[in-house]
Amino acid sequence: MPSLRKPDCSATAQIHAGLNSDSDLRPVQPPVYLSAAYDFTSLRDAREAFAQREAAFTYSRTGSPTVALLERRVAELEAGVGAVAVASGQAAIALTLLALAGRSGQSPDGRAHVDIPAGHVVASAKIYGGTADLLNDSLAEAGISVSWVDPHQPQAWADAVTERTRACLVESIGNPHADLPDIPALARIARTAQIPLIVDNTLASPYLVQPAKLGADFVIHSATKYLSGNGTALAGVVVDAGSFSPTDQPHKWPQFTAATARFGDTPLVERYGEHGAVLHLIRAKYLHDFGPCLAPWSAQQVLEGIETLDVRLDRHCRNAETLSERLSNHSAVHRVRHPSLRGDPNAALAKRDFPRGTGAVLSIELAGGPTVVERFIDSLTLFKLAANIGDARSMVAHPASMTHCRLSPELRAAGEITEQTVRFSVGRENVEDLWSDLQQAFAASGWGSDDDAASRLKKEALV
Ligand SMILES: *Cc1c(COP(=O)(O)O)cnc(C)c1O
Repeated sequence: MPSLRKPDCSATAQIHAGLNSDSDLRPVQPPVYLSAAYDFTSLRDAREAFAQREAAFTYSRTGSPTVALLERRVAELEAGVGAVAVASGQAAIALTLLALAGRSGQSPDGRAHVDIPAGHVVASAKIYGGTADLLNDSLAEAGISVSWVDPHQPQAWADAVTERTRACLVESIGNPHADLPDIPALARIARTAQIPLIVDNTLASPYLVQPAKLGADFVIHSATKYLSGNGTALAGVVVDAGSFSPTDQPHKWPQFTAATARFGDTPLVERYGEHGAVLHLIRAKYLHDFGPCLAPWSAQQVLEGIETLDVRLDRHCRNAETLSERLSNHSAVHRVRHPSLRGDPNAALAKRDFPRGTGAVLSIELAGGPTVVERFIDSLTLFKLAANIGDARSMVAHPASMTHCRLSPELRAAGEITEQTVRFSVGRENVEDLWSDLQQAFAASGWGSDDDAASRLKKEALV
């Protein structure tokens, strides 16, 4: 691990990190560069840029000044050394896994041969449904295999690693149950196995936790969520924390350490260094070939969102904590999962690694059958029934029917998603208005609105 002190996600960095003046007009707000292509002054310059011997913007699929600013800013907030921003969180995960665990990483010459099987990923079984779809279906089609393991059993991760394993993947705060893995423990296991640990930090944002400081090698965001915070644009980012070194085991990472024709018969680690090689492969190969590029407009939306990250997250967390506490005293609720609750299995990790809070996604298990669940969800008015998180607006989702509807029965069981599971993304409205909405929905679905009486009864039963 580098001993360098890594930067904090400070309020100043949220507003200023990564700025470099590229205009004589001195705008205070960085301009949005809406240009598909960039002009060269000579054919010589164009040739050098296209051959990737000189850095330059060529065509906005692989980068633009506005997107580059977002990359620098998120890299700094996440205490990383660089980043690539793409069209969505899903694209960020897909391209990162292809670069690390794709077929070309398994053959000595760093090229994809059809007769050589692709790599293997060890991933948390308590994960966003889209990531499960990606690994179970589309990446499986590309030959990448996956083992789903319990994020709370570090030894299971060590046991799942095979000689083909090239990545471990976990969420800093799990979706939908807001459970917290022991990131330093998983990082130690990954380091021993010499496999990079990828942490999806979407639900936390760097304001609540910086996984790079806990041992993560790559940090991924769906910037659609808390980084943007306004629910207007989709975006994704992958950050290199600067701790993964392909040259420690060059034979294991030929896609970075072998000379390939694609990159001028020079190994990527020679051209871009240990900590530029992975990002360069993601950008210059996978983003270039598949094309899930981030629009400058969307990058601007996210940059604007990041300026208020700390202020927003504080409100999100306090609202979620208040609602968790009240819901846990309601007779209609069998169980509330949020690490802020006393007695929650993740409370100790929350205290150790998340001093500012554990975010605003929480889940409940409703006490009642499917019709009660349906009526409760349909009765909410302030909470939008929508598959998003991190918006200013509060949202409710039924994971079994929505975000996690394609999971196999085994993965759904491992993820503890039932028909009674209801997920909330608590927004930034007045918390009393949110509580009133929940109370009227409980009443409308057959539960008395007098939860105070219920909580009194529960407390009396305890003494
Ligand atoms: C939403 C989400 C994603 C996917 O991001 P998109 O921007 O929707 O593609 C990935 N991981 C987590 C934890 C998410 O919540």
